[in-house]
Amino acid sequence: MNCPFCGYYNSKVVDSRDVNDGIRRRRQCLSCGSRFTTYERLQPTGLFVIKKDQRREEFSKDKLLTGIRKACEKRPLPTGTVDKLADDIEAELYRRGRVEIPNAIIGDMVMDRLKGLDYIAYIRFASVYREFADITALKQEVDTLVSNETEASRPISQLPLLPTEELVTVAKRRQRSQK
Ligand SMILES: [Zn+2]
Repeated sequence: MNCPFCGYYNSKVVDSRDVNDGIRRRRQCLSCGSRFTTYERLQPTGLFVIKKDQRREEFSKDKLLTGIRKACEKRPLPTGTVDKLADDIEAELYRRGRVEIPNAIIGDMVMDRLKGLDYIAYIRFASVYREFADITALKQEVDTLVSNETEASRPISQLPLLPTEELVTVAKRRQRSQK
């Protein structure tokens, strides 16, 4: 690795240690003396996705990203959320150490995470992925989310599904019916 400061081709290792899944090396440039860090990691072998029709396709992070990005379009999520989600899933897939993985499992992983993040994105993704058989199945899922929403169980990171006024109304209605 060339020195990032002066571009010199040679450096010496001043420290090296094992990190999670590789080796971290602290290096010093032999020309300008600047220090920088490199990571050495095993290149994972190809990962294949088993599709519904049983065909195999090489795992593509770009495809994964596109799917998540579509679901999250115009949702007020913090910058970098989508990329981080895809990174996490990719890392977990490789950690599992399997050569082939059913597409449905990847879909579940995405849905799990979106559910904790933004229900709208979750429903969008699920409607493509799970292919809700009909509008009733979709409504059922939305109803479950809406009833979770009014309970304390809603993850703090979750964006509100309903406008605040509606939430208050639902909560009041609930209180009244409990009396
Ligand atoms: Zn240098």
